[in-house]
Amino acid sequence: AIEFRDVEKRFGDHTVLKGLNFTVSPGERVTLIGPSGSGKTTILRLIMTLESLTGGYIDVHGEPLTHMERGGKRVALPGKQVRANTKRIGMVFQHFNLFPNMTVIENLVEAPVHVLGMKKAEAVEKARGLLQKVGLSDKENEHPSRLSGGQQQRVAIARALAMDPDILLLDEVTSALDPELVDDVLQVLRDIAEETDITMLIVTHEMQFARDVSQRVMMFDGGVILEEGHPEDIFTNPREERTRRFLSAVL
Ligand code: ATP
Repeated sequence: AIEFRDVEKRFGDHTVLKGLNFTVSPGERVTLIGPSGSGKTTILRLIMTLESLTGGYIDVHGEPLTHMERGGKRVALPGKQVRANTKRIGMVFQHFNLFPNMTVIENLVEAPVHVLGMKKAEAVEKARGLLQKVGLSDKENEHPSRLSGGQQQRVAIARALAMDPDILLLDEVTSALDPELVDDVLQVLRDIAEETDITMLIVTHEMQFARDVSQRVMMFDGGVILEEGHPEDIFTNPREERTRRFLSAVL
């Protein structure tokens, strides 16, 4: 599970998240929606520990992620502990973020070998299985720059899966793609949702996809959860006028 407790995030004097509380259950798939600047990406980056909290706590699998309470005080955990906590959290970014100087298969093998200590041959075999899964077996020796955006994104998904994540964070993974490349990427993600019990937090503007794969939608505005519920309810019958306006702009 992922648990946000009174999470606050400030950038300078701009408070982006204001005492945020929510829990995502193991295996649950939750889509985050909301206007630009409402803090959706920041939430994923906090879980990935790419940003640091300015207040509150995030617990993952019942353990503190970066900070804990000790003697009534909020203390940061040692970096080594934080790295251990994030090993099985994967993230896929809007702009792929593959290692440009490595081939496709090297991109997939790097972290399992260097972070998990997996044997090279085992990592290669696993990587090949994943490339097959995302339909890119024939590209293992290419460099990312030679692939289309959609192919690069499928490599990025395979790379995240190579770490056997139990949590997968997807940050607008199709927003940078040409429209005709979007479907292949979403299909790969639909398959993962169907075939695994990986917990997924999804930021997307693809509302049909959100409807198909997620069990819950959270609508953010102004650094708080404005409303949440089953996708069917939120998309067809939102309670809040703000949600209604947001959805009519993106649907
Ligand atoms: P979008 O849909 O546009 O990506 P979002 O809901 O994901 O929006 P965030 O990217 O989380 O929003 O950003 C929330 C706010 O935090 C924005 O106002 C943004 O300008 C600000 N912000 C994010 N990162 C930083 C940073 N590193 N320094 C300063 N401000 C930041």
